[in-house]
Amino acid sequence: MYSVTDPATGELIEEIPNATDDDVLAAVGRVDRAYTSWRRRPVAERAAIALRAAELFAERADELAAIMTLEMGKRINEGRGEVGIVRDIFEYYGTHGPELLADEPLTLKTGEAAVAKEPIGALLGIMPWNFPCYQVARFVAPNLVLGNTILLKHASICPRSALAIERILHEAGVPEDAYVNVFASSRQVPWMLADPRIKGVSLTGSEQAGISVAAEAGRNLKRAVLELGGSDPLIVLDTDDMDETVKATATARMRNCGQSCNAPKRMIVMGDIYEDFVEGITKRVADYYQPGDPADPATKLPPLASVAAADEVAAQVRTAVDQGATLRTGGNRNGPGAYLEATVLTDVTPEMDAYYEEIFGPVVLVFRAETEEEAIEIANDSPFGLGAAVFGTDPARNRRVADRIEAGMVYLNKSGGSVADLPFGGIKRSGMGRELGALGIEEFMNKKSIRL
Ligand code: NAP
Repeated sequence: MYSVTDPATGELIEEIPNATDDDVLAAVGRVDRAYTSWRRRPVAERAAIALRAAELFAERADELAAIMTLEMGKRINEGRGEVGIVRDIFEYYGTHGPELLADEPLTLKTGEAAVAKEPIGALLGIMPWNFPCYQVARFVAPNLVLGNTILLKHASICPRSALAIERILHEAGVPEDAYVNVFASSRQVPWMLADPRIKGVSLTGSEQAGISVAAEAGRNLKRAVLELGGSDPLIVLDTDDMDETVKATATARMRNCGQSCNAPKRMIVMGDIYEDFVEGITKRVADYYQPGDPADPATKLPPLASVAAADEVAAQVRTAVDQGATLRTGGNRNGPGAYLEATVLTDVTPEMDAYYEEIFGPVVLVFRAETEEEAIEIANDSPFGLGAAVFGTDPARNRRVADRIEAGMVYLNKSGGSVADLPFGGIKRSGMGRELGALGIEEFMNKKSIRL
């Protein structure tokens, strides 16, 4: 069942039944049939449609933000910001698509050749609720410009976002059958992947969903892009402004109520500044991040996306404390709705569950490192490898540390966030493949060698 439940109140607003197997089959047929004519359209036409979509997203920012606030509790201003990035993504691929898809000439020992950049067919996208518009855009914009068609299964708690996105794309000029939203259930995903008409799959979501989708994709020899969880380290080597460092790191962690895959979830702070940092971030988190209505632009801490999500994060915090971690502030659920106090934990050790798992909520973990080497060791002691950040006053040292971190992305003196022209993705259990930038259009591309 797809449903809309207001996380601020817990009130059920709407339920939408899952698509039947016949509905799903029909949707697969539509995107498959649309492929031939869509790929034959000149790249410039598909790019122009992406540019039109960028404009429409910008025009509908308020409407989309309000939907996200209702469906998953995003702060209204953050929702508007998210749509701004969506606009940038469509604009990026609309503007750069033609040059990214131009033939690449090759001079061989034996003559001339080229690599042509072609689409591969109808793709399945499976998307999460934490950034209902941005996650879809990362997958959809490059692939529509490339000439693939798309069947989109969104998270079951954001059907209205799913429909609003579909409407915008069709209004922008994407043929109705080249982008199809389907309210499929996870149960239907394996046989969608087994269908020969689906040529690849992109999943953004949890590790568990990634394992299941990757297994099905592998069984059917389909390409898969997996954007999964993370427990990103943020190393603070030194600072000449502790207040600013605390503010920047807390802001990055609390963005989207802590529900960002690439939020810094583990702050690793050098011993000589550790106590000051812990004191500063505890005060900042306790004082600044007061819960409120996500529709009110003044609110700093909205609810989590669902009561179940809030209960789960609260249970992770409780388990950490039971296992010996120190709770510096927060940890309590308060309702009605999916509210959880902003939380700081210290003294988390490898024996505790919280050391290795992803905590997808407003919870800061702070670790102490006595040497640069130890900081790097703690940073890399994680099953995940999505993003990371290094804060420090010496650019050469920051870079030296960054080079030794096992992650798909490292930010220096800033953390998190995402821009259209910078590739995004992880290693280890954070997934495989890249989205955004020039690399993001290559994942579902047939790089066809042409011997001239
Ligand atoms: P999720 O439970 O894995 O759901 C994501 C999507 O996958 C939903 O559409 C969900 O459908 C579907 N799904 C769940 N289990 C599935 C299965 N076995 N087979 C096929 N589809 C399945 O994840 P979430 O809770 O929405 O999102 C949070 C997670 O996503 C976090 O771990 C976060 O770090 C990660 N994430 C990663 C990135 C990145 O770029 N690396 C970005 C954002 C989020 P239903 O809703 O119908 O269950």
